[in-house]
This record gives sequence, structure tokens and C-alpha cells, in this order.
Amino acid sequence: MLTGKSILLIVGGGISAYKTPELVRLITRAGGDVRVILTKAGSEFVTPLTLGSVSGKKVHEALFSLTDEAEMGHIELSRAADLVVVAPATADMMAKAASGLANDLASTALLATDKPVLMAPAMNVRMWLHAATQRNLATLRADGIAFIGPNEGAMACGEFGLGRMAEPEEILGAISAHFSARTGALAGKHVLITAGPTHEPIDPVRYIANRSSGKQGYALAEAARDAGARVTLVSGPVTLTDPAGVTIIRVETAREMQDAVEAALPADLAIFAAAVADWRVADAKPEKIKKDGKAPAPLKLAENPDILAGVSRHATKRPKLVVGFAAETEKVLAHAAAKRARKGCDVIVANDVSPESGVMGGDRNRVHILSDSGTESLPEMAKSEVAQALVARFAALLEKKT
Ligand code: C5P
Repeated sequence: MLTGKSILLIVGGGISAYKTPELVRLITRAGGDVRVILTKAGSEFVTPLTLGSVSGKKVHEALFSLTDEAEMGHIELSRAADLVVVAPATADMMAKAASGLANDLASTALLATDKPVLMAPAMNVRMWLHAATQRNLATLRADGIAFIGPNEGAMACGEFGLGRMAEPEEILGAISAHFSARTGALAGKHVLITAGPTHEPIDPVRYIANRSSGKQGYALAEAARDAGARVTLVSGPVTLTDPAGVTIIRVETAREMQDAVEAALPADLAIFAAAVADWRVADAKPEKIKKDGKAPAPLKLAENPDILAGVSRHATKRPKLVVGFAAETEKVLAHAAAKRARKGCDVIVANDVSPESGVMGGDRNRVHILSDSGTESLPEMAKSEVAQALVARFAALLEKKT
């Protein structure tokens, strides 16, 4: 993912600096090359020895170091990388960068660089919300600096709120997205994805649902993001972590999903991986149905809108490529082919969800891709690998259509 890319990581002085060796490890594992600048304050939280061990390179600390300058001058250090990442970016570093101060190696590198910069801020919630920090944030954004986080949550200082540094995986996601946004197979495209089940209420406490975990849809969102797309993920109720760098719209019912999809159009590519409930309870009760010794009246069901069919036949905003999923338990290919015609979509991805396949809720999947070009069956793979393979196919089909 990051093969051939070199990253300059500037580690500031915040408690979350303890997570930066993990970030270095993730970048390195993705094929990237990392050089580290550690500020004096940063070295109170993480040692140069740790960062040097995981990056496999000398950690740069001092602005006026004769040996460092002889090996690689600080100007060269700031420009040799393809991307500069500041994590954690403290309030102090943001303030310095916003006003162009250069009184240590980190701030000098930030002023001297001609490369894109990504900051992962981390600070106390009051410091983050302070007018001065927000002003600096606006200035830095206007200067073209990108941001990931901060996240909301419990802080080391005992308070709760916005200010936690984005997790190393999220920062890695933002780094990958940065590179693929320029060169990925879906660079510049808007991809809309539905995922997960829907919940159709019976009363305020009960609902009808299905066994979809949302894993394949979420994996597709990550793969599309990694291919450089701007991704909108409309998700039913799932227990998965939010993919970084993706816009998530949470919904519960099929009708909410339909509204969210409509609002997210136009898109270049739409992938309908959600297991939308076919029916909803026509007369859902506003109060909890009470047990009174006899069986309640049978539920009256009404058909839900078919979101995929609706978008495939959209009068004004049909995406160039529309993909549906077919979860079948028998005659998988025949049913999938019929579904492609019935729904009016360009591609159907068919998978066998019979209980013995272990696909529903599992981490692996085996799919068949049905399009105008015929049927292609992929071998069984992890859902993340299936997602990457599918995204590559979709990008090629989209390319053909434009
Ligand atoms: O008809 P069936 O539910 O098997 O079709 C599956 C495909 O249609 C999936 O892509 C699913 O996301 C989509 N679908 C939809 N809205 C519905 C039902 C299914 O978008 N109400």
C-alpha cells in the first residue's frame, strides 16, 4: 500500500506519543519508509531508542547537531519525504506552525518543507476547543494542511471529550488515502456503499432483523477509500469500528436507508451490499406490546422499497456503475443472473450464504461476479481481499463506461 513512499513523522510532546512506535510499525508493515523527528517534549513520553528500533533509522532530535547535519541537513530531511505526518500534533506545535515559528527541529522542518503535511492533533478538550487553537486550525487548513482526528473519548487528564489522538490504524488509513487519492484506481470518484442489516421495528423495543454483520460492506468501503475514492457508507446497525476516512451515515430501517442513499447521490459507483429487510411491520406499535396470556395478533407486513432497483432506474442520478449483491442459499448463479435483470443493475456479486458456508458473520467469502462481460468466480478469500478484488474489477468496468 505504501511501497516506495517515504514519510517524515514528527512526534510531539503529548501522552499519545506512546502510540507512535505502533504507528511506525504499521507504516513500515505497509511498505513505507519512516524517518522520525522527536521533539524534546515528545522524548518525555517515548524514547528515541524505541522509535529508532521500530523505524530502523536514526531518530532526529536536535536542530543544531553537527553529526546530523553532516548526514542529512534539516532542510533536506524536511523535503526527502513524500509526506510529513505530525502525531501527536500538540496545541503548541499547531500554534507554532500556524504562525510560522521555527525554533526547534520539528517546527523548522514544518516551515522548510515543500511536501504535504498531515496532522493528528492530541490535547485536552478545553485546549482543543479554545478559540486560539480553533483559529490556528482554520489557518493551517487554509494553508493546505490535512487533519485526522482528534477523536472523542476519555483523556489521560481525566476529562472526557474531543482531543484524543486518532488511533494508529486511523492515521495509517489517512496516510494511505492521501497517496491513493492522487493515483488510485478510483481517484476523484464518489463511491456510495450500503452495508449491514436493517432493523424494522415491531414496537419500541422489538424489531425484525437478519444475520448480516456488515463486514463485507465495510471492507468494500475501506478498499474503495484505499483506491482513492471519496466514500459515503450508509450503514445499518452493526458492531464494527468505523473505517477511517469514510463518511458514515447511520440508519436503522430500510426507508431511512433509502432516504440516506437518495441524499448521498450523485455518485460514480454505487455498491449495495446491505441486507435490506424485504418487509417492515405495517402497523408498528407506538407502545410496547404487552404480554397478556394469549398470542398477539399476527404481524402485518408491508414491502420495503427496493433501494437497488430504485437507484438502477433513477431518472436523473443513476450512477455510472451500479452493483448489487445476491445472497443465495441455492442455485446461486441462476438466481443471481435473474436478479441482475430484474433489478436493472450492471453487476451482481453473488455469494452462497447457506448456513454451512459460514459466510454470514464470518471473515471469509467466495463470490461470483456477473456482468455484461460474463461470470467470474473468485476463490475463497478473506472479506478484505474479496473487497480489494471487487474494487479493482469495478474500477475497470467504470473506466470502460467513461
Ligand atoms: O432481492 P434481494 O434482497 O435478494 O437483492 C439483494 C440486493 O438488493 C442487494 O444488493 C441489496 O443491497 C439490494 N436491496 C436493496 N433494497 C431492498 C432489498 C435489497 O437495495 N429493499
